[in-house]
Amino acid sequence: MIEFEMTQKQVELVESVRSLMREEICPTVLKMDRKNDDTFNWNYIRTLAGHNLIAPLLPKEYGGLGLDYVSTALVIEEIAAACAGLAACMVGTMHGLLPIIIAGSQEQKRRLLPMFAEKKPALASFALTEPKGGSDIERMETTAQFRDGYYYIQGTKDYVVNGAVANFVTVCTNPGKSRGAACQFFVVPREQIDLVKNRKTLGIRYANTAQLHFQNARVSGDDIVGDADSAYLLLNHTLDLGRSLIGAIEVGIARAAHELVLAYAQERQQFGRPIFSNQGVSFPLAQMATSIDAARFMVWRACSLIDQEGDYTRASSMAKLFAGQVGQSVTARAIDIMGAFGYTEESLLSLYFRDAKVCSIVGGTDNVQQMIIASLL
Ligand SMILES: Cc1cc2nc3c(=O)[nH]c(=O)nc-3n(C[C@H](O)[C@H](O)[C@H](O)COP(=O)(O)OP(=O)(O)OC[C@H]3O[C@@H](n4cnc5c(N)ncnc54)[C@H](O)[C@@H]3O)c2cc1C
Repeated sequence: MIEFEMTQKQVELVESVRSLMREEICPTVLKMDRKNDDTFNWNYIRTLAGHNLIAPLLPKEYGGLGLDYVSTALVIEEIAAACAGLAACMVGTMHGLLPIIIAGSQEQKRRLLPMFAEKKPALASFALTEPKGGSDIERMETTAQFRDGYYYIQGTKDYVVNGAVANFVTVCTNPGKSRGAACQFFVVPREQIDLVKNRKTLGIRYANTAQLHFQNARVSGDDIVGDADSAYLLLNHTLDLGRSLIGAIEVGIARAAHELVLAYAQERQQFGRPIFSNQGVSFPLAQMATSIDAARFMVWRACSLIDQEGDYTRASSMAKLFAGQVGQSVTARAIDIMGAFGYTEESLLSLYFRDAKVCSIVGGTDNVQQMIIASLL
């Protein structure tokens, strides 16, 4: 069955998240972007926590909303349309939780999942990227050495969303060739991370993005997620699922830019009439609306395949790749239509333009997505 309409429940969910964003987030979004110190403002995460929205796909048995992926994408689009940095905090958290949801033990699930549904603010992180290993994860150098009944993690992870503020980080390590596995996941509590350097990013500035140093971070066997033999599959599974959610962030950014500039074009008078009455303005707006719909449907398709346990790898990569391209072109064209004000820091469009760039890097670059898609043609 192919669905292009939301269910009544989804409509109500979207309306409630949209109105929450309109009241609590939209009025402060420029302020959220302009933080100029390293302090993370938990107030907005508290707002999400109050509505159980930090990780909407968290299963009900652990206190979550238990939303399917399509509904989760709908929520992410709404939140990203208000503040992509806030949506990035959610998606970063969900990346950190997915390995546990998919392959964690019952003990880990009971210990680590309910804190994201307790109305108290909590965040998680997913740490894969390293200074020498970005697209090429075989360059990963972070290790976990077993001594005296504990594992000691050494290494550096970089560009980790929520890295400095997460309650725990799901860290991907290299078990070494002798162990015969490509990677192994550990859950590392915040207090075991020795050094943190906050990254100042071009966009999604509300989110904390950090470099993390592990110097003998001590964890136990209970903190290993999944088994080493299937950890590489778990990694790919997590990345594939996460890409569709990153695509939803980009749809939200593009939609917000389009709504803003459409209203402006209908209002702004030049030569005695609204600029929208010129086809040179209305046609790009029509084109933008068309490509946003296409990107949204691609995200829905990927999420729907996930929900139906279909083969979603290619669809997820395509959704992220295309939504990222749409987000970047829509936000750039929106600035053209607004003119000078769109280029200033007081305009939300300049924020959307910076935010939109992230999608072509995070979760694997555009080239990596094309490598995945090409390998599945
Ligand atoms: C804001 C932000 C948030 C992030 N959040 C996280 C996070 O939470 N957790 C995490 O682990 N990582 C995170 N990342 C890191 C992100 O996943 C990596 O930056 C990304 O995978 C690319 O790695 P790299 O930056 O080292 O680029 P590189 O791998 O060095 O690539 C540089 C360029 O070379 C191209 N390239 C490389 N190899 C090939 C090839 N074989 N063929 C064609 N082109 C190639 C790439 O496409 C890219 O254009 C984040 C990044 C950003 C910017």
